[in-house]
Amino acid sequence: MPRYEYRCRSCGDTFELSRPMAESAAPATCPAGHDDTVKLLSTVAVGGASSAPAPAPRSGGGTGGCCGGGCCG
Ligand SMILES: [Zn+2]
Repeated sequence: MPRYEYRCRSCGDTFELSRPMAESAAPATCPAGHDDTVKLLSTVAVGGASSAPAPAPRSGGGTGGCCGGGCCG
């Protein structure tokens, strides 16, 4: 099951959840009980990386974006 990282906007804590991909955009509750959280982009640790990854151009749209996780409004 994929792991997703979230950040709580109430206390600023970051935490990870393992949840199905279908629920990746579902609201997450922080360990302190706040539900004002945003999903962070997954970071994959690649040893010795020195260059920043280039953003991949999106085509077609429909996935990603801020408004999918409830951080807008
Ligand atoms: Zn919190």
